[in-house]
Amino acid sequence: MDPWGPVARLPRQKIQELQDRKLRHFINRYLYPFSPYYHRLFDQSKINPKDIRAVADLRRVPFTSKIDFIASPPDGERFREFILQPDKEKIRAAWPPGKLAALALTAALRGQSAVEDKLMAEFKPSFMTFTTGTTNQPVPFLYSNYDMRNLSVSGGRMLDLFKIKSSENIVNTFPYAPHLAFWQVVFGALSANALALSTGGGKVMGTEGNIAVIQKMKPSVVLGVPSYVYHILREAADKKCDFHFVQKVVLGAARVTPAFKAKVVELLAAMGAKDVAVFGTYGFTEARSAWAECPAGPQGSSGYHLYPDKEIFEIVDPKTGETKKEGEDGELVYTAIDARSSVVIRYRTGDFVKGGISYGPCPHCGSTVPRISSDITRLSDIKDLQLSKIKGALVNLNHFDVIFSEIGAVDEWQVEIRKKNDDKFDVDEVVIYLCGRPGADQQDAENQLRKKLLLATELAPNAVHWVPRAELIKRLELETANKEKRIVDKRPKE
Ligand SMILES: [Zn+2]
Repeated sequence: MDPWGPVARLPRQKIQELQDRKLRHFINRYLYPFSPYYHRLFDQSKINPKDIRAVADLRRVPFTSKIDFIASPPDGERFREFILQPDKEKIRAAWPPGKLAALALTAALRGQSAVEDKLMAEFKPSFMTFTTGTTNQPVPFLYSNYDMRNLSVSGGRMLDLFKIKSSENIVNTFPYAPHLAFWQVVFGALSANALALSTGGGKVMGTEGNIAVIQKMKPSVVLGVPSYVYHILREAADKKCDFHFVQKVVLGAARVTPAFKAKVVELLAAMGAKDVAVFGTYGFTEARSAWAECPAGPQGSSGYHLYPDKEIFEIVDPKTGETKKEGEDGELVYTAIDARSSVVIRYRTGDFVKGGISYGPCPHCGSTVPRISSDITRLSDIKDLQLSKIKGALVNLNHFDVIFSEIGAVDEWQVEIRKKNDDKFDVDEVVIYLCGRPGADQQDAENQLRKKLLLATELAPNAVHWVPRAELIKRLELETANKEKRIVDKRPKE
């Protein structure tokens, strides 16, 4: 049984005590003895694991970041060093007498093989997902059976936050891939006993196929990547489909703005669905977990509800690494306290959270778990795309998303950055492709866009092209790629 109910209502003081205790236990019995990477890091940094007694002591541990998985030894297998690797001797040295006595008792009553089976289920990797960097090589994160239970737990908790009952049907359109989002939904639905059909997304069943199964199954819940769910709904609306049965839309693997939520609600209303709730979620491969919003009314956001018995989140200054206070902006840092197999602590997510973390009770559902603001932008995306400079100006890509979703007349968009005449020594050019919503005033939309772009990014596009929707969908690879090509950098790499 998942003790989510009691955890979600614990007073703040009790949550702190629980986290201190779990952190201490995790570092001393699992992480330091069994993780080759952290054993070395603690020794090199002269940290005695026994001195990490409370959440506040975590600050003494150096950060881990993406680069630590990539800056690899010659064999390129750095990820293995993050996997907990216990053996008999390490277990004997690290575990308390009571825990060892329990193992001895199991051996006496059911044989040594029963002990081995038990340890295997706890530690041996049996599942994996990969990170999805656009330029970096993918890094595998492994799960043991113990971690798979946690994956079910987080999925179940998300469904609980969305108030999805076991009688409801779900259509999951996340792309079928070894990525967290797809599997989080599969295991979450299983643990909540809800009937889910995972279509695999456009690449597997095609958009026609997705629409057909939605019509047939009449799910109250549709899940997927924002751009693809929107695409399905729009195609269905064009066909005058009746989607009155949809009550909840759950979006993941990308940022969801209030304006985007409003567009989804509007589209569904046109197909007969009333009072639809749109939820955002947040997750990342390294945590092997995802978090969710609770119902907060149209376009509102409760922030993502965390699992204080599974992890610790800190917000730090991205430049100095200093820990920020409640409600302050900063980079999200993650520490596992109930994990096996691939484990990271003080992991810098590269995600910047505006509004940081709050510890007060949720104004919408009353839960007392910490929450992170849903205004999250990926610092790492900027680095990944090397968009340090366009036309000599530093541009934050996250602005594009907000600007375009604010202009109601724009349905889909793509930004292309290229060199004039395809000559690498020539100046940068920014070309924008748009398709409008039916009846949109294109000239007015273009004027708004130019104004907003200039204000937010100091960029003036060289050209704005309005193209038919089918063409833009092809450009974006909405139906064929796992992640749409929203911003395309065609400049030759240095
Ligand atoms: Zn809530």
